[in-house]
Amino acid sequence: MKLIKSLKREILMYDKNNIFAKILRKEIPCDKIYEDENFLFFKDIDPKAKIHVLGIPKVECSDFSDFVSKYDNNLVSQFFKKTEYVINLLGLNNGGYKIISNSGLNGGQEVPHFHIHILGGEKLNFKL
Ligand code: AMP
Repeated sequence: MKLIKSLKREILMYDKNNIFAKILRKEIPCDKIYEDENFLFFKDIDPKAKIHVLGIPKVECSDFSDFVSKYDNNLVSQFFKKTEYVINLLGLNNGGYKIISNSGLNGGQEVPHFHIHILGGEKLNFKL
């Protein structure tokens, strides 16, 4: 079972040409909010809320499960700590916000590099 799972992961290999990989390699620009050696947070090009920021780790990972299963706990927890830092930076703590991560076909993921959406700055009129 473990072998099948890892084979599946190998087949779903990371696409080095996805748009966020290009942003990380600085081949295309982004509107940066925060960056450090491990993570990048930048504005979504097609915002669905007044504030719409994407957060990505700089390692190769195609979706949430890929990120959490492939990398060590330290990096994974740092990502969420840094997300909280950026939420504060954006001033979203008082009014509230949403965090969303789409994964795979059923999740409606378009860019195959793990990312979270941070949405806020106004009353968000869509609910899960
Ligand atoms: P998802 O559907 O969860 O994969 O979300 C991908 C998001 O990336 C969408 O909200 C797009 O608007 C956004 N996006 C695509 N290209 C860019 C880009 N070059 N810079 C910033 N955001 C982008």
